[in-house]
Amino acid sequence: MSQYVKPSNDHSHGLADGGRLRPIVRWDDDVMHIVTRPVERFDDDLRTLVRDMFATMEAANGVGLAAPQVGVDLAVFVYDCPDDDQVIHRGIVCNPEVELPTGRNRVLETSDEGCLSWPGAYQPLARPDKVICRGLDINGDPVELHGTGYLARCFQHETDHLNGVVFGDRLSGRSRRLLDQQKESLAHFYPADWPVTPKGRQDDEGARSV
Ligand SMILES: [Zn+2]
Repeated sequence: MSQYVKPSNDHSHGLADGGRLRPIVRWDDDVMHIVTRPVERFDDDLRTLVRDMFATMEAANGVGLAAPQVGVDLAVFVYDCPDDDQVIHRGIVCNPEVELPTGRNRVLETSDEGCLSWPGAYQPLARPDKVICRGLDINGDPVELHGTGYLARCFQHETDHLNGVVFGDRLSGRSRRLLDQQKESLAHFYPADWPVTPKGRQDDEGARSV
């Protein structure tokens, strides 16, 4: 999937361009394991943060990025991600809540999942195949987003981040060990301030991470 496909469902409010790159924080950092503060001020500081998050996500070839991943303890994420029909959706959600399907509507889908804050590592994880994500946009107005396919996974993964949960927390002990081994074996490709300093050359490009 190419990041150069123009999103057909664009809710980025013009903030997807012009940001500055920030280093991506790893799971070793405490900020990745706390419940973030809700966004209360929809001001220029928030717009700058979101603009930088879009730039950082794009530079890291990601499909989603949550504020703690750039070291900021605030409940906001950005996404640029395909759904089940390969339609690209792009936008911002502040103070998200994810509604998971229940009963017969609850269908689990297992896909490889990765995280920009544990770069290069992927493990299969079962998650509900569709969700509704509700929150606020960059102006504080309500948004309700319906996610399918990888977009459903992205909304769950990013909302987890804002609640201090990383996807490694949802893996079995064995899968978590494999994930950590993969991350360690590829760590030399990722400078400490990646993607400010680009990643080293790697022939085997994996799936895209969130
Ligand atoms: Zn992540």
